[in-house]
Amino acid sequence: MKHLTAIILVALISWSVQAQPSLRTEHVILITLDGLRWQELFTGADLSLIGDEDFVGEPDILKHRFWNEDAMIRRIRLMPFFWSVIAEEGRIYGNRAHGSLVNLTNNFWFSYPGYNEILTGFIDDRITSNDKVDNPNVTVLEYINGLPEFRNSVAAFASWDVFPYIINEQRSGVPVNAGFRSAEGDLTDHERFLNEIQPQIPSPWTTVRFDAFTHHYAMEYLEKYAPRLLYISYGETDDFAHDGKYDQYLNSAAQTDAFINDIWTWVQSHAPYRNATTLIITTDHGRGTQPKDAWKSHGTEINGSDQIWFAVIGPDTTPMGEIKTGGQYYQNQIARTVAAFLGVEYTGEGKAGEAIEQVIGK
Ligand SMILES: [Zn+2]
Repeated sequence: MKHLTAIILVALISWSVQAQPSLRTEHVILITLDGLRWQELFTGADLSLIGDEDFVGEPDILKHRFWNEDAMIRRIRLMPFFWSVIAEEGRIYGNRAHGSLVNLTNNFWFSYPGYNEILTGFIDDRITSNDKVDNPNVTVLEYINGLPEFRNSVAAFASWDVFPYIINEQRSGVPVNAGFRSAEGDLTDHERFLNEIQPQIPSPWTTVRFDAFTHHYAMEYLEKYAPRLLYISYGETDDFAHDGKYDQYLNSAAQTDAFINDIWTWVQSHAPYRNATTLIITTDHGRGTQPKDAWKSHGTEINGSDQIWFAVIGPDTTPMGEIKTGGQYYQNQIARTVAAFLGVEYTGEGKAGEAIEQVIGK
């Protein structure tokens, strides 16, 4: 009997080794949209907010663009790339109406602890604010950048000016273009123009620039340097929400969807990215729903703002579209999943959440 068990065990092990697929992903682009609620992602614009003049400048214009009685049409109007290309060729997790649950494990439900959890795969109770303090933890970006095979092949672009600290750019050596920074080095014509107009277009915020700058700087970098791992952090959605501007929050969500479409269209039409690039898209936290103005905010006092979502599209992820089969995932699983797509075993010194095996090679 013991013998039989051993034989079965050996058979199982060799089967699982054989079943381990070799991955086609050579490049990963990790993308975050700051504080975009799963509610808008999965059901589009919110009726109670879209017509409220406290939150919307011109409700008729906004409704014309984003409203439909049917939530399935509404969400396509808001985020057409998600609900055409990713819904057909990738996967979208986090629709709680179908029992697909994605949550934070940190107990703060705001940005720095969230980005730390995304990028390191674990929580750190020392990170209790959004202050510009160098992250004591090594992110998956830093870890991968430290491997000989990936050296100088990791970069980050962000709208929020705290990212050089979250990524600890000094120690990590990962180049971070964040906040109101210009492109540096050998510039393309595009970068020169972006550098010229960025200070000419005043941002409504002192610590966050418009996402168009982040996006186009990142695209130029992508084209020039072909990084193996690129992180792009869009920020407008959260800031417009804090400002109570539901119209701008929706406009920004739609624009970021268009930016991601740009990225995907570009990678799928350029070697060496074509059919060799995985996009992983998520958010740092959710937002509230009740009382009515809770959508503006998040944090532990705002119920539900630990509820998030993620999406994956790439050559190693079998298309399943919107996940309707339930399941529970956590923000702390993203870092290890990013690494796994690149064939790297990252454990965050044993603290990182498990890789999301369901999306890798299956
Ligand atoms: Zn916020």
